[in-house]
Amino acid sequence: MSFPDIVPELRARLPDLRGRLLANQRLGEFTWFRVGGPAQAFFVPDDENDLAYALRNLPVEIPVTVMGAGSNLIVRDGGVPGVVIRLGRGFNEVKIEPDHRVIAGSAMLDAKVAREAQKAGIAGLAFLSGIPGAIGGALRMNGGAYGGETKDVMVEARGVDRAGNLRTYSNAEMGFAYRHCAVPDDVIFTSAVFQGRAGDPEAIAAEMDNIKQKREASQPRHRTGGSTFKNPPGQSAWKLVDEAGCRGLRVGEAQVSELHSNFLINLGRATAADIETLGETVRARVKQKSGVELEWEIKRVGVKG
Ligand SMILES: Cc1cc2nc3c(=O)[nH]c(=O)nc-3n(C[C@H](O)[C@H](O)[C@H](O)COP(=O)(O)OP(=O)(O)OC[C@H]3O[C@@H](n4cnc5c(N)ncnc54)[C@H](O)[C@@H]3O)c2cc1C
Repeated sequence: MSFPDIVPELRARLPDLRGRLLANQRLGEFTWFRVGGPAQAFFVPDDENDLAYALRNLPVEIPVTVMGAGSNLIVRDGGVPGVVIRLGRGFNEVKIEPDHRVIAGSAMLDAKVAREAQKAGIAGLAFLSGIPGAIGGALRMNGGAYGGETKDVMVEARGVDRAGNLRTYSNAEMGFAYRHCAVPDDVIFTSAVFQGRAGDPEAIAAEMDNIKQKREASQPRHRTGGSTFKNPPGQSAWKLVDEAGCRGLRVGEAQVSELHSNFLINLGRATAADIETLGETVRARVKQKSGVELEWEIKRVGVKG
């Protein structure tokens, strides 16, 4: 499966583009599930100015999709039409600032930000150590774990909108809710400022080890997208999935994890369709058993193959 090549036309329209622009780049390798078709055009901007230039000059009818570390993402087998943007090295900085603040580029892995904060004796960001995504995904998803959430520590985020305008958002302007941020979907976050507090590096390191151990004991860490469904108010998605008899359920090479029933896993050769069909089957069974309509936490992008 491949799309018509729009890269020559884009290059002609955007002569000053500096980043990498590729046609029909397969995306599976950039996602935790390791499935999915290609991006019609795949763009890795050099830096924020390059990103803004691209967004300002891309024809409005071309859809733009951004991906981070791909840990909360199913790319469908037919691939993603338009331009897929993946932030790379130019967005990878982490800086320790006075007053226990940390500035992190949005391609920086959450775990690395947590580690830098720990080394600098900044407490409050250890929860990020267990989330396998990058900062952009943490902002978009209000990533959280073990009692901490992005909304608790984020002071300001920076981003670029579809028209190429630079924007900044305060914590209130992010409109954070459970695994949700209300900033329009077209905004691509480029960096954020986080507020921690004074802490002892050794104690923070111990907290991070504890998080790691808990995760290793309770979650698959391979070819998965993490929690598949949001917890409905007052309920646990994994319990509802279990009660509907879905633990271990398979569709093709996709399976509901035996270890954690809110995780789906690719056993090796699953397609995106296997995984999505499995998720929808679980939703239908849970609805039938308990009347609850589970909402996908994992984002699905692209077209069916
Ligand atoms: C093993 C495992 C464990 C997990 N545990 C947790 C957990 O404990 N808590 C938790 O919250 N999540 C967890 N997750 C889910 C996932 O790690 C988080 O949702 C994470 O924040 C996603 O970040 P990402 O960079 O991988 O984003 P992606 O998966 O690449 O994208 C997710 C969404 O964010 C958007 N996005 C990505 N980057 C940007 C950007 N720069 N600007 C704007 N939008 C952007 C994408 O368009 C997409 O809609 C887990 C996942 C796995 C695989």
